[in-house]
Amino acid sequence: HAKKYGRNNFQVYSSDIEGLAHSDLRMEALLHEALENKEFVLHYQPQYRADTKELHGIEALIRWNNKELGMVTPAAFIPVAEETGMIVPIGEWVLEEACRQNVTWQNAGMNPLPVSVNLSLRQFYQSDLVEKIKAILTSTGLPPEYLMLEITETIAMQEDIATGILQELKTLGVKIAMDDFGTGYSSLKYLQNFSIDHIKIDKAFVNNLFTKEGRAIVATIISLGHHLDITVVAEGVETPAQVAELKQLGCHVFQGYYFSRPLPPDLLQDEWNHS
Ligand code: C2E
Ligand code: MG
Ligand code: MG
Ligand code: MG
Repeated sequence: HAKKYGRNNFQVYSSDIEGLAHSDLRMEALLHEALENKEFVLHYQPQYRADTKELHGIEALIRWNNKELGMVTPAAFIPVAEETGMIVPIGEWVLEEACRQNVTWQNAGMNPLPVSVNLSLRQFYQSDLVEKIKAILTSTGLPPEYLMLEITETIAMQEDIATGILQELKTLGVKIAMDDFGTGYSSLKYLQNFSIDHIKIDKAFVNNLFTKEGRAIVATIISLGHHLDITVVAEGVETPAQVAELKQLGCHVFQGYYFSRPLPPDLLQDEWNHS
């Protein structure tokens, strides 16, 4: 089944597989094998401070290095991984690998920076999420402040689960970022109750920065960050005009292709050395 999907047919792959129950099963089996055969890799996208232009942090983004498909984008398998529950062991691998890699970098003398890891709602439904994160921090030796967990509004709105878990995670000392802010069920209450460290402006808003409405939304999110003392990160920054405008509006941190694509660990390390 996998064979008919070429290297660049990510979209075909994900839309083709959706709606076909037996394909989900097949995908689940493939994801299982991928985990066992260590076919997943993490790329890391740098984030830069607007004021000093220094490296501020890095976001770990998963890819599936499949023998037949090539490098598969997360959009093609994260949704199925979430539906089948495979995101739980995959997500645990991501956490462990990102923490391990960050310790390796710190031991190599790199200026210590937090690594951001995306969490899925399914992981929040696991009663042992906090225990697992604690165990990973202990086994890898990563100080908790160098792990930033990216959650979405979909997670935040499950308040009965999210509130307790996020409180425990904050007590552990890890950082929390609200990803894709404004694209989901946005509530200001989350920002107030969850002591969020970063708000990430979704790239769809950055993309609309030069429309009246788009600019107003971005300006409002940045202003909210300033008033609540939360660092604002703009995602999907692609042009110098966007950089200039975002800087003007007071955005703290930039992430996007204009600065760098997500990079494999060795290339990210070069970037880090020269920043
Ligand atoms: P995200 O967490 O919002 O990550 C940002 C996405 O935007 C990444 O896509 C990144 O490559 C892309 N991006 C960054 N700068 C630019 C830009 O300037 N222009 C454009 N067009 N895109 C940019 P990617 O790596 O394909 O990941 C897509 C999504 O998959 C992520 O969105 C996240 O929701 C999910 N994801 C990735 N890795 C993981 C993971 O380990 N676990 C979970 N649960 N989800 C993950
Ligand atoms: Mg993210
Ligand atoms: Mg995002
Ligand atoms: Mg996004």
